[in-house]
Amino acid sequence: MQVDALNETGQGLPTETRLTSADIQGGLSRARYKLILNQRCRDWVEKLLRNLFGENPSSVSIVQRLNNATFNLSSQPSSFDYGDFHTFATTGHGTYSVTIYPYAHSMSPSDFAVGLIHEAFHMGPQAKDDFQMWQASVGNFNISLPHTPEGLRLASSSWNRMLQQHCQ
Ligand SMILES: [Zn+2]
Repeated sequence: MQVDALNETGQGLPTETRLTSADIQGGLSRARYKLILNQRCRDWVEKLLRNLFGENPSSVSIVQRLNNATFNLSSQPSSFDYGDFHTFATTGHGTYSVTIYPYAHSMSPSDFAVGLIHEAFHMGPQAKDDFQMWQASVGNFNISLPHTPEGLRLASSSWNRMLQQHCQ
């Protein structure tokens, strides 16, 4: 696992409002604990995986995605306005990369860890988008939300809230 500091000389927010590499390591530790030892969280994550991929999934696969990820700390706020995506976002499907934006600093440690689990579903060759994750969370792939910024925001925040409820 790599943690890269980006834009350290940029005109970002003051240092004290940003997360550090140590904060990310702490978030990853919490995320791993939730995925392996928090039975309610583990059951929910495995239900999501079953809805998405079938078979008998293990939450360990999500731990492995986090272990393979590169985390980029940005000193700049995200340049898009997708609500809670202000906190952080993956840089693309097919890769294991997460950019963490300054506003992640305002999240509780638990919510930050849940956010890392959220992003893990967007990583790697089997990455799913927020619309697919919302369908998997509801347990119905025949329903849809409009593919607009508002629809995306709703999909993301809805399935994230369910994830938070199970992974507190
Ligand atoms: Zn998302």
